[in-house]
Amino acid sequence: MNNKILQQKIEFLPGVGPKKSTLLNKEIGVYTINDMLHYFPFRYEDRSKIRKLSEVTEKDFDGVFLVQVLKKTSSGLYNKKRLTVKVKDSSDYAELIWFKGIKWIENKVLIGKKYLIFGKPKLFNKTISFTHPETNEYQKKTLGIRPVYSLTETLKKRFLNNRFFNKIIDEILIKVKNNIKENLPEHIINHARVISREEALINIHLPKNNKMIYQSIKRLKFEELFFLQLQVLLLKKNRLDSFPGFSFKKNILLSGFYKNHIPFELTKAQKKVIKECYKDMSSGKQMNRLIQGDVGSGKTIVAFMCMLIAIEGFGQVAFMAPTEVLAEQHFQSINKYANKLNLSVGFLTGSTKQKERKLLHENLIVGKTNILVGTHALIEKSVVFKNLGLVIIDEQHKFGVAQRAKLWKKKELVYPHVLVMTATPIPRTLALTLYGDLDVSTIDEMPLGRKPIITSHRFDNSRLKVLGFINKTIEGGQQIYIVYPLIEESKSKDYKDLMDGYNGIKKYFPSIPIGILHGRMRSEDKDFEMKRFVEGKSKILVSTTVIEVGVDVSNATVMIIESAERFGLSQLHQLRGRVGRGKIQSYCILMTKYKLSENAKTRIKALTNSSDGFEISNIDLKIRGPGNMMGTQQSGVLDLKFTDLAKDTEVISKTRLLAKKIIANDPNLIKPENKPLFLFIKNNKKTNVNWSRIS
Ligand code: ADP
Ligand code: MG
Repeated sequence: MNNKILQQKIEFLPGVGPKKSTLLNKEIGVYTINDMLHYFPFRYEDRSKIRKLSEVTEKDFDGVFLVQVLKKTSSGLYNKKRLTVKVKDSSDYAELIWFKGIKWIENKVLIGKKYLIFGKPKLFNKTISFTHPETNEYQKKTLGIRPVYSLTETLKKRFLNNRFFNKIIDEILIKVKNNIKENLPEHIINHARVISREEALINIHLPKNNKMIYQSIKRLKFEELFFLQLQVLLLKKNRLDSFPGFSFKKNILLSGFYKNHIPFELTKAQKKVIKECYKDMSSGKQMNRLIQGDVGSGKTIVAFMCMLIAIEGFGQVAFMAPTEVLAEQHFQSINKYANKLNLSVGFLTGSTKQKERKLLHENLIVGKTNILVGTHALIEKSVVFKNLGLVIIDEQHKFGVAQRAKLWKKKELVYPHVLVMTATPIPRTLALTLYGDLDVSTIDEMPLGRKPIITSHRFDNSRLKVLGFINKTIEGGQQIYIVYPLIEESKSKDYKDLMDGYNGIKKYFPSIPIGILHGRMRSEDKDFEMKRFVEGKSKILVSTTVIEVGVDVSNATVMIIESAERFGLSQLHQLRGRVGRGKIQSYCILMTKYKLSENAKTRIKALTNSSDGFEISNIDLKIRGPGNMMGTQQSGVLDLKFTDLAKDTEVISKTRLLAKKIIANDPNLIKPENKPLFLFIKNNKKTNVNWSRIS
């Protein structure tokens, strides 16, 4: 990093100067030679093979052709001028056409001479033509693989085009030779079978051949992920060393509840996760654990068992959910269990009345309240615990990371344990990378006796059949959800669709009690409608996504999703998870219009093919990219240049394993063989991880 050549400003390179360098700073953030060296091409043009004109097809691609000029014709007047150059190679004829820069080309291109042209051939009426092909005199040097850089329009307009970049990079590569420091120790290079850093940086810009492009990318991707993992693990180790946590060792309350009150046998996965949590919570170090499990995998009971561990150690519990509906649902299920043990559960949301709030605050501060369930309201300053021992956050991706931190800053000497739960499972490798220093537990098993939901896709023209199916379901004694998209509660078109749908259903089933639920209703009315449905008094519930994370009605066995193409994949999966909660076969019907985008087709197909939340989130990840998966707050945490988090799972696991091994052997990276690692991390604080946003 202290290398003088790499730190030189690009301004002083031949052909750059102050004006161009200012533009490069502004447009692509390049200041120094080192920056430029790390501005990588996004694709390559293979000019290493000369193709034959006779092989040109109707759907062709850029290529190099060696042609001889036969004839030049200019036609048209003023701004309609064009130059047509007739050429041939050994196999066929073609036309090269120019509309601009005609004079220059006319002088440059001579009849009888051979040129290497590069461009995309068009085949029309048996005539091959090229528009504005790049034209070079024939010489060996112009062949090869050429990198293409991603450039802004402003840069291109000012002639800082790809040709300019190729030239500058050539200069730079000559300068930096023998000046690029290796940042991986030899033992790692050998183990990973990667080429040297210098070789990779040179070949990524000026590859000898296709194999070297592959080798360079392999090396740089490895390096990117390895240092990421190394830093994540160092951070975690640092937390373990320096953040004391409660040591909750007793588990009499837990085993008592398990023996006497639990209404079902826990799955193996649930038991495993509870054990993992207990181990953390009794360790004296702060727990920071993510529990991921598909919808319906039974996270609530696991959370409750962990609460018992804290409560027995005289710790209080804060349980935070992203929406009021979900908080309410948690409050009810937690309360049901807690009542059996005479524990006191409080409920706090934005709409809690002042008077109640006061009482809650009083009970909290003296330690009377064991568990406080609620929304963001829990992190208000006025909420003070006597002894906060455990924080549980449900649906982590909907919270900002900053909010997560806020909760545990409430207690300074000893940190409360932190448990994050998510129903949007993500591949383990991705979780380990994205959640940085969290430990990950996975509930990878469904409670016994669940039948997979049968999912089908129907177009609007099968509506009559669907109505028939609704009728049969109700005759069988079951209930039905019909969900409409109302992504933003303010959109009146969506609101109208919902009301039309509701009225239509009512007209079709005049004697069947039907409920409606949407965000514009008053809380009391919502509660009333919800209760009616839970008690089985209404048979159909027409609603918006307010039920997405809310209800648990095991008698509801059919979920109909209207305009399903408008929902995201994970959201559809969540909605579907509202049925299939009992022993009776459940169904999900995705209604869509006839014409669908490719993306929508992929989503619908993924859902009809799979009921596995992990598989679905994997597909979602591929469609949307990891940044979006985590919600807006979390995008931009990782800035990876070579890695595709959805595809590179193997390298991710490999680098993680290796980083783990190294830290286990040399936790402070002080052994001589690890010195390059230590130096690189020290000198590159500003690497690809935005740490301030993670913890
Ligand atoms: P989620 O993981 O989606 O939050 P819940 O905790 O709401 O799942 O559990 C879904 C349903 O499954 C609940 O009705 C719950 O009582 C039930 N359940 C949880 N664990 C088991 C189990 N081991 N056996 C049977 N039913 C269970
Ligand atoms: Mg849940």
